[in-house]
Amino acid sequence: DQSLAELDPEIAAVLDGELVRQRETLEMIASENFVPRAVLQAQGSVLTNKYAEGYPGRRYYGGCEQVDIAENLAIERATALFGAEYANVQPHSGAQANAAVLHALATPGETILGLSLAHGGHLTHGMKINFSGKLYKVAAYGVDEQSHRIEMETVRAKALESRPKVIIAGWSAYPRQLDFAAFREIADEVGAYLWTDMAHFAGLVAAGLHPSPVPHSDVVSSTVHKTLGGPRSGFLLARDKEAFGKKLDSAVFPGQQGGPLMHVVAAKAVAFKVAAGEEFRERQERTLEGARIIAERLTQQDVRDSGVSLVTGGTDVHLVLVDLRSSALDGQQAEDLLHGAGITVNRNAVPFDPRPPRVTSGLRIGTPALASRGFGAAEFTEVADIIATTLVGGAGTDVEAMRARVRALTEAFPLYPGLQQ
Ligand code: PLP
Repeated sequence: DQSLAELDPEIAAVLDGELVRQRETLEMIASENFVPRAVLQAQGSVLTNKYAEGYPGRRYYGGCEQVDIAENLAIERATALFGAEYANVQPHSGAQANAAVLHALATPGETILGLSLAHGGHLTHGMKINFSGKLYKVAAYGVDEQSHRIEMETVRAKALESRPKVIIAGWSAYPRQLDFAAFREIADEVGAYLWTDMAHFAGLVAAGLHPSPVPHSDVVSSTVHKTLGGPRSGFLLARDKEAFGKKLDSAVFPGQQGGPLMHVVAAKAVAFKVAAGEEFRERQERTLEGARIIAERLTQQDVRDSGVSLVTGGTDVHLVLVDLRSSALDGQQAEDLLHGAGITVNRNAVPFDPRPPRVTSGLRIGTPALASRGFGAAEFTEVADIIATTLVGGAGTDVEAMRARVRALTEAFPLYPGLQQ
């Protein structure tokens, strides 16, 4: 039985190269994180061998006694963590969790109402060539042209006009909290289900640092791998098990998926356990503090003078959205420049963006991964200044000098010390 390096040196080299990349750069993609070693271990385990179609105690395969324990633990921990009656921990990904939600709540041809992709929504909230846009009639709300915030009066007007079956709260690129109670009122007024996709801010909710959508929503979906810091995957919650449990279970399996990935389910259980702890809460506080520090630096005079601003002027979550519409840099150039300095971010459309989606006039910058790496106020202050100096300097930036400052930070906070893959 050969090791990976013996059997497949090419893939082994990719793993090694990626570990070096993660160690030597600053990971600031808002949807990424570093999982604890225990999560890596569960995910790289023999549980990957097991078929377990069905649910604990009601499987379509024999030999599920061990994986049943793992799935039950994941369910118990998820419900306890988020104060929900029901959880389904089988979705392979956030997109599949979302497909299951729509499968359960709406019939193809019915109307869904979510935040438009161009204003920070997700593909699965009704984008034209996504399943959600192909199967359902899509009505979208956007942010206000001045404030760049979601105004609830606009959501209400769109809901009254389109009479959706499902209203979607949640976002992929929006730097503020949502008013879940107001979404609930609108859903009740028009007789719609309220589905919240908390993929981005689930970790903040788990830590009690962000309002919870669970009491207000019929269904909540999420990924596990963004602020929540677990394995790449999805899950569902409902406050009322009686009303939604059966529907959601059958929408996930057999509606959308076959066998669950039990190694990932076990890793989710580990992640939920971690997220219930004090250390996790403290990490989420540093995540928020980091984003605030970056927002403060990127709204100072030198940055403003270079035509760079922030969507909504700041943040109350784990990311900032940089608006480059008046800067000499477009989103692609800014992403490349920061990449050269050793900082990984993604270009992102800003509301009312004149540039095409492949270029964009924005950057999305997030702090979860660096908070997991151990960064606190002092390190985020340095990171913020490196980003500000680079964006102000533009093509004339001394990239090597920035790279050296990044190196000092990555060396002071080693990632996965001693890990061999
Ligand atoms: N929902 C939201 C709000 C997201 O931002 C994302 C990922 O970017 C997803 C769902 C999809 O998750 P996945 O990439 O696991 O399919």
